[in-house]
Amino acid sequence: MKFLKLGSKGNLVEQWQYFLIGEEYYLVNATATFDESTHMATVQFQRMCGLSPDGVIGPATMKKAKDFGFLIEEFEDKDEFKVKVTNDMNSYNWPAVPDFRTLSSDKTEDLFGEIKFKALSNGNIKITNRWDKKHIKRIKVSQLNKLGQRWGHDDGYILFHKKGEDQMKALWDAWEKEGLLRYVTDWCCSYSPRFIRGSKTRLSNHAFGTAFDINIRANGLGKVPPKVGDKGSLRLLVPLANKFGFFWGGHYRKRKDGMHFELAKLF
Ligand SMILES: [Zn+2]
Repeated sequence: MKFLKLGSKGNLVEQWQYFLIGEEYYLVNATATFDESTHMATVQFQRMCGLSPDGVIGPATMKKAKDFGFLIEEFEDKDEFKVKVTNDMNSYNWPAVPDFRTLSSDKTEDLFGEIKFKALSNGNIKITNRWDKKHIKRIKVSQLNKLGQRWGHDDGYILFHKKGEDQMKALWDAWEKEGLLRYVTDWCCSYSPRFIRGSKTRLSNHAFGTAFDINIRANGLGKVPPKVGDKGSLRLLVPLANKFGFFWGGHYRKRKDGMHFELAKLF
């Protein structure tokens, strides 16, 4: 691969930026252009790893990043949803990408309503058209009470888009029924009025109350999600999630988001 450095452009740069964002270098935005803030964050990353801090991503920096779970994938944008089929559960390609895709922003608005907002400085938004009052509902996912963790939900109650309530509950019921709840190690969040991390224009599915994050420690943004059997792996949960209309962030090509599930099909 080519070295990435100040001025480089393209999806490899974007993947690198998502990795830095996932590692909490907050000044970075995923613009697909290796800009000054990406350079600074890269230098910080190299310093932290004891590499020579030149801001250039060559083999040594890449190798270190891989130790942190970063896997760069060379692909064309048109291959974004190319389906890889495998029955090998020990593969990084298991489970295969489902036969549906994430929703475009237009389709998301069609289904879930249009959010009008003002951007706040911290990546969050302030909703100005009372969209949340109309669409966000407090729903109970009783299985959350079976996690040891008590934060992030209120006695099993969470905030979710009301159109997603039935599918969300059905999914958690199905996970429980199939004995899969033990693979849920932690719950992070569902509704959260904010942009996609690293963007200042695109709303996150969390802003629509149609997404949730689990097993966040082992499945950081921009990292390859652990394989079946590895600590924090949630891959065994994915086939049922797909069945209930949830697309898994581990199936994104541009940047993996293994903790993330989003409603992409309504029944
Ligand atoms: Zn998420």
